[in-house]
Amino acid sequence: MFAERLSLLRAQMAAQQVDALLLSVGADLPYFCGYEAMALPRLTMLVVPRDGDARLIVPRLEAPRVVERPGVFKMAVWDETDDPIALARSLIGSASVVAVGDRMWAGFLVDLARLLPRAEFRRASEVTSPLRSVKDAAEVESLRAAAAAADRVAVALRSGDIELAGRTEADVSAELGRRLLAEGHQRVNFAIVAAGENAASPHHEPGERVIGPGEVVLCDFGGTMADANGVGYCSDITRCVHLGDPPPDLADAYDVLFEAQAAQVAAAVVGRPCQEVDRVGRAMIAEAGFGHRFIHRTGHGIGTEAHEDPYIVEGNRTELRAGHAFSIEPGIYLPGRWGLRLEDIVVAAADGPDNLSTTDHRLAVIDA
Ligand code: ZN
Ligand code: ZN
Ligand code: ZN
Repeated sequence: MFAERLSLLRAQMAAQQVDALLLSVGADLPYFCGYEAMALPRLTMLVVPRDGDARLIVPRLEAPRVVERPGVFKMAVWDETDDPIALARSLIGSASVVAVGDRMWAGFLVDLARLLPRAEFRRASEVTSPLRSVKDAAEVESLRAAAAAADRVAVALRSGDIELAGRTEADVSAELGRRLLAEGHQRVNFAIVAAGENAASPHHEPGERVIGPGEVVLCDFGGTMADANGVGYCSDITRCVHLGDPPPDLADAYDVLFEAQAAQVAAAVVGRPCQEVDRVGRAMIAEAGFGHRFIHRTGHGIGTEAHEDPYIVEGNRTELRAGHAFSIEPGIYLPGRWGLRLEDIVVAAADGPDNLSTTDHRLAVIDA
């Protein structure tokens, strides 16, 4: 699998005239070689020349963690007193266009740029994203399993199984996290719980505010779940619960959001530019008078990273391809009052949009 991915990578490098690719901390490295760099100051870096063997620069003390993959990469181990940047420089050779992992520490790039004064640097994502964003069948199943686990937590939330009234946002957030782990996730990436007026802040940090009756509670949570190969794929879902009957204006706004989100999911067909999927729901929300209350893009790609290409946003003309996986998460936010968001993970497929998030999309109303 990794050998095949590397050969596809080299084809991308050739097409974009990239001579050498450098991957370090971040999700690209494990995707292409099965090893994840520790996010520590010592340099780990895969050097991929367009022609020639890939070499994994790795510090001596981390070398025992590396699963060697002949035919994929060879190791270049450095000792504590060696200069790993000089080692990287020697492996890069005469490359003039060098693509650098977007998450690599800036410090390494600054040091490397000094040794390669004539090189042109580019973001590695220009080369890696077209490959990583299109999921194969096994990856889609890994995403589906993660989404199903998050769905089970969302079902518990909607049913009232997860107590809300009288608890703090932070307390409920911790429970959502525990439940994600209990449903098979290895890691909780976030668990936003925003009550009442706090829900008007899309990335609200759950705090000591106590949830009360008559309030909407927006919950947006997700984590990373390892598949059969031990590779982690992400989940991400948002559902809203109202404690007691919602006021008519909120219920009406939710209906608008519900229709807009469903229309966007339906619009996510192969061949349609990402920005048009964004426009479909934005137009409906604007039509209802909430145009300036939908203050973020419609969605983000998802895979081994919680946020990756393709972004469902105005200006992104990328046409959806079978295997693209992304969120559809429009929102309506009224500062000082309340906020609403509805989020699913969707995969564009040959026979139409494949919605991985199956939890009921209506506003859940719980007695309070
Ligand atoms: Zn977000
Ligand atoms: Zn989310
Ligand atoms: Zn999301």
